[in-house]
Amino acid sequence: MIQINNVSVFYESKREKVKALGPINFKAENDDICAIIGPSGCGKTTLLNVLSGIIKKYEGEVLLDLKELNPHIHKIGFIPQDFGLLPWKTVEENCLLPFKIKKEVVENDTTQKMDLIMKRLNINELKNRYPNELSGGQKQRVSIVRSFLINPDLLLMDEAFSALDAIIRDEAQELFLDIWNENKMTTFFITHSIDEALYMGKKIIVMSNRPGEIIEVIDNNLFNNKYYKKDKDYSILFSHIKDLIKRGWDK
Ligand code: ADP
Ligand code: MG
Repeated sequence: MIQINNVSVFYESKREKVKALGPINFKAENDDICAIIGPSGCGKTTLLNVLSGIIKKYEGEVLLDLKELNPHIHKIGFIPQDFGLLPWKTVEENCLLPFKIKKEVVENDTTQKMDLIMKRLNINELKNRYPNELSGGQKQRVSIVRSFLINPDLLLMDEAFSALDAIIRDEAQELFLDIWNENKMTTFFITHSIDEALYMGKKIIVMSNRPGEIIEVIDNNLFNNKYYKKDKDYSILFSHIKDLIKRGWDK
């Protein structure tokens, strides 16, 4: 279980102190997938950076299974908005980086799983390339492979499918759900697509304008259903979320 208690973030410069987020209060169970949707600049990336341990200076607390969140103890898979690849490492080395950092041996199972995921995302031919030889969408897929490979306790995805074309995006969404159905890891993902939130989000967190607060959490019964668009609740939920986001703009 992850508990986010009264979390607020301020960005400080010499001239000013700006509140970017919060207060946020939220609780997710271990098998929850939470979609985060809200206007640009409302603090979504900031929230994910708190959960990933990148932002250490914040008010409030974040607990994972009742212990303070700590990237050295908890296994956190993170797909940042800028993909987070090391330019001097090949695609394969970038995918296996978490193992190298933790000085873990890469077992055959892992390389086999890597090959499988790469094939599904159609980047298996790119293993020996360097990031600057890849398109944005290809870089994003490398970042996806890396985070799916480590069986994380907590998976964080910041608009992880945004640079993918429609066909690869569908495949990536399905791949994510396959991996989640196997491992049931706690997941937070940011998206601008209401459809993506409805397909992949067990819970949908709608945020207000900056400093982002949670306006509503929707328990989404269309989640994990390939035919979600055919469900009788689809259009009602879609317009409801759209209205909420619009209202957030006027806060
Ligand atoms: P989102 O991901 O929802 O678009 P962000 O979390 O990136 O929003 O940013 C939230 C707010 O904080 C924005 O208004 C942004 O301009 C500001 N912000 C983000 N990073 C910094 C920073 N390093 N220093 C100062 N302000 C920042
Ligand atoms: Mg962002």
